[in-house]
Amino acid sequence: MSMLAVLRKIVQEVNSASDLNTALEIIVKRVQQTMNTEVCSVYLFDALTEQYVLMATEGLNPEAVGKIRLAPSEGVVGTVAVRAEPLNLENVAAHPSYRFITGSGEEQFHSFLGAPIINQRKVLGVLVVQQKQRRRFDESEEAFLVTMSAQLAGVIAHNEVTGGNRVNADSPSQLRQDARYDGVSGAPGVGVGTAVVIAPLANLDAVPDQQAEDIDAELKHFRAALSRVRHDIKVVGRSLARRLKGEEQALFDVYLRMLDDSALAGEIEQQILQGQWAQGALRRVVQSHVREFEMMDDLYLRERGTDIKDLGRRVLACLQENVCHLPMQFPDQVVLVAEELTASMLGEVPIEKLVGLVSVMGSGNSHCAILARSMGIPTVMGVVDLSTITVHNQPVIIDGFSGRLFVNPSEQLNRYYDVIVREELLLSKGLEQMRDLPAETLDGHQIPLCVNTGLVTDVALALVRGAEGVGLYRSEVPFMIKEFFPSEAEQIDSYRRQLLPFAPRPVTMRTLDIGGDKSLPYFPIDEANPSLGWRGIRVTLDHPEICLVQVRAMLQASEGLDNLRIMLPMVSSVVEIDEAVALIDQAFAELIEDGCRLVRPKIGVMIEVPAAVYQVRSFARRVDFLSVGSNDLTQYLLAVDRNNPRVASLYNSYHPAVLTALLRIVVEAHKEKVQVSICGELAGDPVGAILMLAMGYDMLSMSSTSLGKVKSAIRGITLDQAQLFLDTALSFDDPLSVQKALGTMLVDAGLGRLSRPQLQP
Ligand code: PEP
Ligand code: MG
Repeated sequence: MSMLAVLRKIVQEVNSASDLNTALEIIVKRVQQTMNTEVCSVYLFDALTEQYVLMATEGLNPEAVGKIRLAPSEGVVGTVAVRAEPLNLENVAAHPSYRFITGSGEEQFHSFLGAPIINQRKVLGVLVVQQKQRRRFDESEEAFLVTMSAQLAGVIAHNEVTGGNRVNADSPSQLRQDARYDGVSGAPGVGVGTAVVIAPLANLDAVPDQQAEDIDAELKHFRAALSRVRHDIKVVGRSLARRLKGEEQALFDVYLRMLDDSALAGEIEQQILQGQWAQGALRRVVQSHVREFEMMDDLYLRERGTDIKDLGRRVLACLQENVCHLPMQFPDQVVLVAEELTASMLGEVPIEKLVGLVSVMGSGNSHCAILARSMGIPTVMGVVDLSTITVHNQPVIIDGFSGRLFVNPSEQLNRYYDVIVREELLLSKGLEQMRDLPAETLDGHQIPLCVNTGLVTDVALALVRGAEGVGLYRSEVPFMIKEFFPSEAEQIDSYRRQLLPFAPRPVTMRTLDIGGDKSLPYFPIDEANPSLGWRGIRVTLDHPEICLVQVRAMLQASEGLDNLRIMLPMVSSVVEIDEAVALIDQAFAELIEDGCRLVRPKIGVMIEVPAAVYQVRSFARRVDFLSVGSNDLTQYLLAVDRNNPRVASLYNSYHPAVLTALLRIVVEAHKEKVQVSICGELAGDPVGAILMLAMGYDMLSMSSTSLGKVKSAIRGITLDQAQLFLDTALSFDDPLSVQKALGTMLVDAGLGRLSRPQLQP
C-alpha cells in the first residue's frame, strides 16, 4: 500500500473513534506498526496545568499514561513543542534538554523522532517515535510522521474540545464548566438559555443523542417509518423494473434486506430498547456501519456504505416528518444550534423563545447571520470545534459581540453576563428616543440612514426604528424560504409589502442575487468555486425569463407608489449593465402597453467586485445611482472567502486596501455627479459609518438593529472630527492598527458606549 493510502486509512480509522482516548490509542498503535518502531507516544497540552501529558503510548509503560507530565520546554518533547518543529535524534540522552523520567521505561530507547501537532498555529501536542537502535530516522520516516501529525491535528483539535477536559475527563459527554468555544460574531448581543440542536431534514450526522421518553412509542414510530421506506423502495423498484437489467433490479432486494430485522432494523430496535430515541438509535447504527464500510479497501464495498447512509436518511426523513407534526416542546430561552444554520430553520422555534443562534459552519457574513442581525438575535457563527451532539440541552451563554459560546456556565459567568444584558437594554432604550431625529452631525451635516431588508419582519422593525427608506432589499430572501420559484403574483405580493409601508420613501430592490453562498434548494448550483462562478447578475442574464418575471413583479408592485429603485448585483462589466437595463426597459414597455400606470424606476449598480472599482465612472454614466456592497468587495479585494471560518480573522473591511477602494469609488462617482451609497455591514458599524460620512457617501444602508447606534455616533461628532477619523484610518498600513486607533478615537469623542463591549471575563 502506498504511504498516502496508509495515511488515509489511519486518518479514517481515527476519525471514526468515539472519543479522544480511543482516537489516540489508534494513532499510536497504527503509527508504531507502520513505521515499525518500538515506541510511539502522543503527548497533549493540558491547558489547566499548562503541561504536556502523555496521553497514549505503544511501547512505553502503559501505567505512565496520564502521569508523565512535562512543562513546556521541559525535556525533548517540550523542545519539539516550543520550537514547533520536528526533532530527529540518534541518541536522545545526549540532548541538552533530555530529562530522565523514572517509571517510563524510556531509558532503553535511544533514537527519538518527535513531530509537533499543530492546529491553527497552536501546538496541541507532540507525536513521538522511539527505537532502541541508535540511528537517525531517515527522510521518508520524518516526512511520514510530520504528515501524520498534520493530518491528525484537526481531528485532535475537534475531539479535544468536544471531549471536555480531556486529561481529567471521566467520559466524553461530561462537559466542564464554562467550556468556551470560539467562533465569529454573527449578530451582536448576549443570549442566555438552553441549547437546542436542530437537525436539517434527514441529516443523520446532526441528530443528537436523546433519552427516549416512551420506549414503546419510539419503537412504534420507528416501525412505521421503516414500513414506509420499505414501501417506497418497492414502488421505486417496480416503477423502474422495465428499464433495469435483472442485476440492477436485484439492488432493490439488497436494499430491502438491509432493512431486515436481522440487519439494520434489529440493531436499531436494540438501541431503542436500551433507552435511545428512534432518531438517535438510527444515527448510531447507521454511522457505525458506514464507518466499517468506509474503511474497507474494496471500492465496491465502500459504496455499500453509501447505500446504508442513503437508507438511513430515508428512514430519518420519515421519522422527522412525523415529528414535525407534533408540537415540539421548547424551553423558554432557546439558543438554537445547528451544523449549518439555514434561513428556514429560524422559523422552527417560536420567535419569542429564541434568544440566540449558533452555527458550526459559516461566518458573520453568511446569509443566516445577516437574517439574524435583521431580527436582532445574538448569533455566533463558525464554531468549528463544537460538537452539536454534546451541547444539546445544555445551559449556554452566547456572546454575539465577540463570537463566543460558553457551555455549562458557572454562577460567576452568569452574573457577569447578566450585567451586560441589562446595560445593553438601557442603551437600546436610550437609542429609541432618537428615532425621529435626523442623522445629523453636531455642525449640521445630514446623511440619510436607510435599512437593508429581506423579510417582511424587517419592514416593521425598520419603521419602528425610524428608517428613511430601504437601501437594499435582498429579493432572494423570500426565494430562499420557498420550495420553488415564486410566481409573478406571489412576487408582486411580497414586493408590495416592502414598497407600501415605506412610500413615499424610496425602496431599493436588488434583482435576484443567488449563487456564491446563497443557494436555492430548488435551483442548486454546484460549482468548485462558487464565489467566482455563476452568481448574481450572471445567473439572471442567463435566465431572462426569471429576471423578466421578477422585474415585472417589482414594477407592478410599485404602481401608484412610485418609490421603486432597481439595483443590479455582482456587476463586473458595462455589458451586463446594458443587457440588464434592456431587460428592465422591455418589462417596463410591456406593462405600459398593458395599461399599467408606472413611473420608470431609477436603476443602480452595486460596486462589489474589484473590476467595478476601476470602472466607477463608466458604470455611473449608465445608471442613476451606485451602491457599494462592502461585504463582497472585502471578500474579493482581500481574496478571503466571507464564509470560511478558517480565514475569518483575515476578513476585515478596515483593511487599507478596502478603505482606499471605498474612497476612490465615492470620488469617481461624484465626478459623474452620481449618488453613491454603501449597503454592506460596514455601514452599520458606528466607526465605519463615521468613515463613510467623512468620505462623502450620500446614504448609508444597514440592518435596522444598527440604526440607533449609527445615528447616535453621527449625532455625537462634527464633520471635522469625522475627517480626522478618516485621516487616521488612512495613515495606517494594517487593519488591526486602523481598528485600534479608531476605537480609541471613539472613546475620546465620548462615544465609547457605542463600541463593542470588551467581553473578556
Ligand atoms: C454586500 O456584498 O456587501 C451586500 C450588501 O450584498 P450581500 O451581503 O447580500 O452579498
Ligand atoms: Mg453582495
